[in-house]
Amino acid sequence: PYDVLVLGGGPAGAAAAIYAARKGIRTALVAERFGGQVMDTVGIENFISVPYTEGPKLAASLEQHVKEYGVDIITGQRAADLQRKQLIELQMESGATLASKSVVLATGARWRELGVPGEAEYKTRGVAYCPHCDGPFFKGKHVAVIGGGNSGIEAAIDLAGIVKQVTVLEFADTLRADEVLVRKARSMPNVDIITNAQTTEVLGDGSKVNGLQYTDRVSGERRKLELAGVFVQIGLVPNTEFLKGSGVEMNRVGEIVIDSRGATSVPGVFAAGDATTVPYKQIVISMGAGATAALGAFDHLIRHSVP
Ligand code: FAD
Repeated sequence: PYDVLVLGGGPAGAAAAIYAARKGIRTALVAERFGGQVMDTVGIENFISVPYTEGPKLAASLEQHVKEYGVDIITGQRAADLQRKQLIELQMESGATLASKSVVLATGARWRELGVPGEAEYKTRGVAYCPHCDGPFFKGKHVAVIGGGNSGIEAAIDLAGIVKQVTVLEFADTLRADEVLVRKARSMPNVDIITNAQTTEVLGDGSKVNGLQYTDRVSGERRKLELAGVFVQIGLVPNTEFLKGSGVEMNRVGEIVIDSRGATSVPGVFAAGDATTVPYKQIVISMGAGATAALGAFDHLIRHSVP
């Protein structure tokens, strides 16, 4: 068996594998796809000490760094179940079982998508999901935020300080965000809020976004907005469905509950990054969390396992 088995090959998983392997213990990294969400990112300007990089380039350096150590890297495999027996056993969709004394779960998350025409086509060309990441690319422009929950209204307030104008579109007749956030957004001169708005299409000129079409759900009228960017803020879904019967505690939205050392409710099982209850989901934050979880797993091993 492995000493540490890392599930996930994004920033959190890569950091966890490097920290574990540097302790000289048997480490494996198993992932569906190396690089995680970073592979879907174009410009990255907030990876500290690197003023600008691009997703695939950062993913390649992550992989190269992990390969410096004797880590068994297994890609193209999806986990289907986790059980704690004598060891911790990960059942893969392929039918294989991997056993380890400790596990770091770093399966990340995915943004919920609108599923309207133009969204996929203009992803990274005006359609964005992360205001911390992509807000500055729209300096001085008009953008829309889809979704009037806490993340949508927080995004609108954040973006209002950078862009020229923010239009929030909410499907329901009221905003679901906390009152204090709604009050703040309504007080900003360059934020306008449209409720009962069903976004039906992201429009573009073939190379980038130039507008948005929505239906007013009260009058049934179709309306068009001219703008340069669309921030979709209708939820971030953790990739934790496979943990349902595992006993690993998760919160209401499926995020893995961890303590300050990355430990989950199951002894020997640690977690890091976007799949967890960590409040902010970012590359630097995931990397730090991956390091924490690996060190937590190492601490667990030296206390609980016979060499
Ligand atoms: P992920 O990167 O999501 O990696 C998850 C890993 O787990 C992947 O290897 C995946 O294949 C694997 N996996 C998932 N489920 C399973 C399974 N069942 N079995 C096996 N493997 C599985 N952050 C920034 O800091 N700056 C930015 O500029 C930035 N821009 C972004 C732009 C976009 C378009 C997106 C989508 C995100 C962006 N982010 C940015 C956020 C950042 O990418 C994430 O916070 C970060 O990648 C999270 O790292 P992670 O390792 O926790 O998870």
